[in-house]
Parts: sequence; structure tokens; C-alpha cells
Amino acid sequence: MPHNNYPASYYAATANAKVVRQELQENKQADVCVIGAGYTGLSTALFLLEKGFSVIILEAAKVGFGASGRNGGQIVNSYSRDLDSIERSASASAAKLIGDMAFEGGRIIRERVARYGIQCDLKDGGVFAAFNQKQMHHLEAQKALWERYGYPHLELLDKQGIQRVVASESYAGGMLDKQGGHIHPLNLALGEAEAVESLGGSIFEQSPALRIEYGDAPLVHTPKGTVRARFVVVAGNAYLGNLIPELAAKSMPCGTQVVATEPLDDELANSLLPQDYCVEDCNYLLDYYRLSADKRLIYGGGVVYGARDPADIESIIRPNMLKTFPQLEKVKIDFAWTGNFLLTLSRLPQVGRLGSNIYYSQGCSGHGVTYTHVAGKVIAEALSGQAERFDALASLPHYPFPGGQRFQVPLSALGAMYYNLRDRLGF
Ligand SMILES: Cc1cc2nc3c(=O)[nH]c(=O)nc-3n(C[C@H](O)[C@H](O)[C@H](O)COP(=O)(O)OP(=O)(O)OC[C@H]3O[C@@H](n4cnc5c(N)ncnc54)[C@H](O)[C@@H]3O)c2cc1C
Repeated sequence: MPHNNYPASYYAATANAKVVRQELQENKQADVCVIGAGYTGLSTALFLLEKGFSVIILEAAKVGFGASGRNGGQIVNSYSRDLDSIERSASASAAKLIGDMAFEGGRIIRERVARYGIQCDLKDGGVFAAFNQKQMHHLEAQKALWERYGYPHLELLDKQGIQRVVASESYAGGMLDKQGGHIHPLNLALGEAEAVESLGGSIFEQSPALRIEYGDAPLVHTPKGTVRARFVVVAGNAYLGNLIPELAAKSMPCGTQVVATEPLDDELANSLLPQDYCVEDCNYLLDYYRLSADKRLIYGGGVVYGARDPADIESIIRPNMLKTFPQLEKVKIDFAWTGNFLLTLSRLPQVGRLGSNIYYSQGCSGHGVTYTHVAGKVIAEALSGQAERFDALASLPHYPFPGGQRFQVPLSALGAMYYNLRDRLGF
């Protein structure tokens, strides 16, 4: 593995627990071996442990090393493509099950935070910000759609309404999700890891799964040890590499960049986001931002197809931040980092089994803080013999990127340029 420690992010600098976990150096056995200690792996492990399974997590680097420890921290309901798209892709019964799950992840996070006393600066309230009337119409339709699934926590905002919650001239309006919200993402992952260990689960860091021997009791090999298990759960997402080639063919790691300003004085911070909501805009290549607990603006955006690390992150993000908030002209950037999410062609999660005992969930396409928490619950249900919701997710169709490994990056970038142009020109 090329990396083994956290990038120099604001989150790593303010992590609660700097626990160093052991590398796997022996041959072990458990009911379930989970590969990857991001939210997918941790959530799966927690639900399994609560059901009485024994669990070993293998993490190539450190807990929360991947997207789970680097993201915008925004608790956003639903999926990267919304429920109307799922209704078109799945059977009516599967779409209903997946639709009902769309609002469960935020509840799971809040329940975890309360039950295990996780200190991760949880705040309620998320705003979708619209640049124009076309995007406002889209939000109106989204509200009606989510209400059809019994979700009543949305409020449309006109131009004056959004200016009361975001001090920016950029927007024509927006929509508040009162059960959206934000967290310190790495501290959530670290708290969940402690909860796993408090229930008797083991986590080995610096222990990449290098090879899986398939069979009735699969064997997972790391550089210095093995885990024999009844089930394996693959949760390596954009950092999995080519461990399972058939998964790699239908997904593409993409980078997105985040900066954290220096701490703002209270007056400036409170004027930018008076209710301390998080915000994401409605563009295809969207910007997302929020305040941290110590009043920095954490601002993300940009996508690098193929997950190459851009040389100067600040020069990518700062101009967008100043377009939204020109009042931050003199504010310094203290941290800038990049992280990888996993894109699928449909932008819907990729879920399934390989044989009868290797399970996977990945590819939530940049919108995974809530989904990954539900995925853990649904995988744990399936391993306990209740596979209805898992099978609904697994029924979503997935296709290889056009152009194969060679052309997936340029063709996807071309597609994104097209959508970006449409957003800019408003058609
Ligand atoms: C910069 C950024 C901003 C984002 N912002 C948001 C946001 O605000 N809201 C939102 O909803 N979503 C956001 N996302 C997406 C969200 O963070 C992810 O969907 C989610 O964290 C994915 O969790 P995961 O556990 O599946 O994967 P990851 O968190 O990436 O975890 C995978 C883990 O598996 C490990 N691993 C990989 N291969 C192996 C192996 N062979 N052996 C052992 N371990 C392995 C990795 O080291 C890693 O720790 C963002 C993503 C990024 C990158």
C-alpha cells in the first residue's frame, strides 16, 4: 500500500484519539472478517457485534484513513442519484425498500453518537442551495418525492430565506433539511472504532488484505498473517485497488478536495452561517461547506477523475470559496487535503455477494456518510439470514465504464464538463 498514515488534514490535526493499533502478525479466526475500517466496515462490524458475531477488521492504513476520515462531514439524506432514478432502475418492491432506507443513515449516526458517547461535534441542519429557478424547481420536486416516502423535515427557502441562513449573494433560494447536519468525520470513525473494540471486536491497522482464498471458510491473507472466517465483508471502497478485479471494472476512484480556513472570529463565522447549518449547492460538480467546532470554514469541491492528487489544492478551491463568500478575501487557509470517493456509472451504490460468503458494498459516488451507515446494518441483516433489504440494493444494475480502464477517466471527465457547462449556462 502506498500510504499508511493520515493526510495532513484539519481532521487529523484535531483527532480525539491517537490510538496506534497492532498490525496482524498471526493466524486468526472469526465469524466475519471485514476489509476496511471506514464507515462501511465499522458500521457493519458494530451491527454484527451487537448481534453476537465475532468480528476482525483488517485496515490497510489507519481507522478512517479513507474518505470516512477526510470528507466534508455533511450528513445528507438519500443517495447520489435520488429516489426517482432508483424507481426507474429497480423493481417497485426493491425501490420501496431502498427509498425507505434513504433516511435511515442519519438516524443511525445520531443513535451511535448517543449510545457510545462519540464526541464528533454533531450539529443538525443541512441546506441545499440553488443558483437559479431551474434548480429551485428541482428542489420542489425533490421535496415532493421525499414526502412521498414519508419524510416531512424539508422546508423550501426563497431568496430572502436562504440569505437568513447563508450570507452569500450567489443563490436564488434553497431547501433546508432539518434532519441533515454535520460532524467531524474522522472523530465519528474513531469513536465507532472504539465502540467496535468495546464490544469485543478486533481492528488491525497497517494490515492490508492482499489476497482472498475463496471457499466454504474463506482465508484472507495480509503481509504477516491470515484471518479464516465464515464470511468476508469487502469495504475498501475507492482505496481497494484491484483486490477484486470484477468490482474495479464497474467503478472509478475520483478525488475531491477540501480546505479549512484559519479560525474565523465569532462575528464573521456567525454572520456567514448564523444557524451553523452545512450547505451543498445543486450543481453537478458541487461545492459543499460548513463551520467546524472551532469556527473554521471547511469548504470542499472539485473532482479529479481517476483520483490523481492535484498539486495545489488551495488554488482549485479558494476561487470558488471567494465567489461564494467574497468577505473571506483576507482569510488564510490552514489546511488543504484531498480524498477519494468511488464513482459508479449510475452513481448508485454497488452491493452484492461473490459466491455465497463474500459480501461487498461500495461506490456511493461522493454521497456516502449516511448510506454507509445503513449499508452496515443491511449487510449485518443479510449475514443473519434477513437478506430482503440487501437483495433490494444488490438488484440495482451496474455497468462497466465505457472505454474500459484506459478511457474511463477521459470520457467521465468529458461527461462532467458537459454537466458543468449546463449548470453554468443554466440550461
Ligand atoms: C473529500 C471527500 C468529501 C466527501 N464529503 C462527503 C460529505 O460531505 N457527505 C457525504 O455524504 N459523503 C461525502 N463523501 C463521501 C463519503 O466520505 C464516502 O462515501 C464514505 O466515507 C465511504 O466510506 P467507506 O467506508 O465505504 O470507504 P472509506 O472511508 O474510503 O474506507 C475504506 C477503507 O478501506 C481501507 N482499505 C482499502 N483496501 C484495503 C485492503 N485491501 N485491506 C485493508 N483495508 C483496505 C482503506 O485504507 C480505507 O480506510 C466525501 C468523500 C470525499 C473523498
